[in-house]
Amino acid sequence: AYNFNAGPAALPLTVLQKAQAELLDFSDTGMSIMEHSHRGKDYEAVHNQAIELLKELLAMPSGYDVLFLQGGASLQFAMLPMNFLPAGKKAGYVMTGVWSEKAYKEAERLGQVFVAASAQEGNYRRIPAAQELQYDASTAYLHITSNNTIYGTEWQEFPDTGAVPLVADMSSDILSRPFDVSKFALIYAGAQKNLGPSGVTVVIIRRDFLEQADKNLPTMLKYGTFAKDNSMYNTPPTFSIYMVKLMLEWVKDQGGLTALYRRNQDKAALLYDAIDASHGFYTGHAQPEARSLMNVTFRLPSPELEKKFLDQAKKEGFVGLSGHRSVGGCRASTYNAVPIESCQALQAMMLAFQQANA
Ligand code: PLP
Repeated sequence: AYNFNAGPAALPLTVLQKAQAELLDFSDTGMSIMEHSHRGKDYEAVHNQAIELLKELLAMPSGYDVLFLQGGASLQFAMLPMNFLPAGKKAGYVMTGVWSEKAYKEAERLGQVFVAASAQEGNYRRIPAAQELQYDASTAYLHITSNNTIYGTEWQEFPDTGAVPLVADMSSDILSRPFDVSKFALIYAGAQKNLGPSGVTVVIIRRDFLEQADKNLPTMLKYGTFAKDNSMYNTPPTFSIYMVKLMLEWVKDQGGLTALYRRNQDKAALLYDAIDASHGFYTGHAQPEARSLMNVTFRLPSPELEKKFLDQAKKEGFVGLSGHRSVGGCRASTYNAVPIESCQALQAMMLAFQQANA
């Protein structure tokens, strides 16, 4: 299948094959990795390799911890303000889509929040410019969503927030391109797009920021619990973390983030070129300067043609091309594991469909 699902997303074939080959007998131990104790040396090695590989691939400076949590990015919407939004302080949120809104609403239940900038007008087609962001030095943290999965917009450059801690939800574009981790106090991402299967959430946290966290929280809601015990206070999602490790090895084998970035640019360009050369038959949702490399969103001239396009795509083996209900139209998610051949096939299908139906 040409899998363009928005998430859980495609995984590289070789990663699935490796998992399959090792499923019953991990590393000649006579047991599946799922059956190993999380306190045993075999699993512990997998766990630590995953952490080290992520640090290496992101060129993470020292002073950061990598944590494995559960509850998805959605739990982070609440955990972040619980830990870092004390009474008397305000947190700023940049609104770039539904996921930013959800993050904002959760924080609003727990403390004081404000909108630092919004792209809602026109239904989230753009990313606010750095000079639009309104916050001051007393801001508890500034929250952004690096890639807006539903609308197909992506921050091209991250703001410099100085002493104000910058926090990002990178669920749908982590590992798709190199970026400077040192700009961030905290990054979180549900694994199920570029990092592996669902079931684990990766958090990258700067230690000096962690020290400011509220200590008076339930154990499982404190980042400190996970940092202190290397994400093994309780049983971690071992199989998901094992899959993340295989995924990270694959990223390294591909040449790391610089190579993947180049490939992701080529993949997205095939689809954006088809949109731009279509003389308005296909219209992109995102403004060109805010276009995402991970989610390409577009519409056709009528709901009838959209339905016909999606029906034909399905017949030809394309999966997951329906747009999210809040935008409609079509969305092709081109995460790391989507091969360029899938994008070439979709480009050809788009051109043929246009010729037959324009
Ligand atoms: N944030 C972004 C940018 C997403 O794309 C998603 C899911 O698609 C989420 C958050 C929610 O993630 P989860 O399902 O892991 O809670």
